[in-house]
Amino acid sequence: MKKKNKYSRILLKISGEFLKSDSTHNVNINFIHSLTQQVQVLMQSNVQVALVIGGGNLFRGSELAKIGIRRTVSDQIGMLSTVMNSLLIYEFFKKSNIKVKLFSSTSLEGLCDRYRLDTVNHALQNGYATIFCFGLGIPFFTTDSAACVYGIDIKADIFLKGTKVNGIYSSDPLIHPKAKLYNKLRYQEVLKKQLKVMDYASLVLAYEHKLPILVFNMYNPKILHDIFMSTNHIGTLISE
Ligand code: UDP
Repeated sequence: MKKKNKYSRILLKISGEFLKSDSTHNVNINFIHSLTQQVQVLMQSNVQVALVIGGGNLFRGSELAKIGIRRTVSDQIGMLSTVMNSLLIYEFFKKSNIKVKLFSSTSLEGLCDRYRLDTVNHALQNGYATIFCFGLGIPFFTTDSAACVYGIDIKADIFLKGTKVNGIYSSDPLIHPKAKLYNKLRYQEVLKKQLKVMDYASLVLAYEHKLPILVFNMYNPKILHDIFMSTNHIGTLISE
């Protein structure tokens, strides 16, 4: 009998920061290779993988607004940066023979299809990784919000949020080495303790729709395998 996967369908959110590099091409090829390999292994085990890639390595609306660009336009520039990053990942997946489809919240004719639940479900059920770009298509939101909305819509078993550290800490572990790593947190606790892991809009949405969130260290090149295979607890789980 085939062993059942811990999660059948995941929504993996990767921040643009991970794609950043000092190399001439300004792309962290090692990270992308690691991501590609890890996704490939999951898909070989029949895990359905949906991804949202951020754009923060290129542009964030809130930052552009500080230099006087209207916020809506700033956010549109931010959302367009997610399209570039998503195309990059799409291309690397293709090169590695990962079946993949790219969807956008807005019409980007010639580049990709528009997000539609039935089409996305069909792609996932037929062994395609799916990448959702251009966020939610509206300003004042982030790709964490987009990841939550899509995660809820496609009924992902879990929202996997890769970060630079091992999970959620009582304070920034890069500044406070004695900060405590939480194994588990309730949505309300994250809000009450004002822990900075994702914006509140996305957290409230996940809470209302009971979408569990796992926060973990995406720099670990075996992390996705460990999340699925390890009996030890990994990262911080946010749930009810
Ligand atoms: N953005 C937006 N609406 C959305 C998603 C994203 O306006 O639904 C814009 C926003 O300006 C954001 C930028 O796109 O700063 C890039 O996304 P994000 O900051 O979430 O990227 P990450 O930090 O994850 O790399």
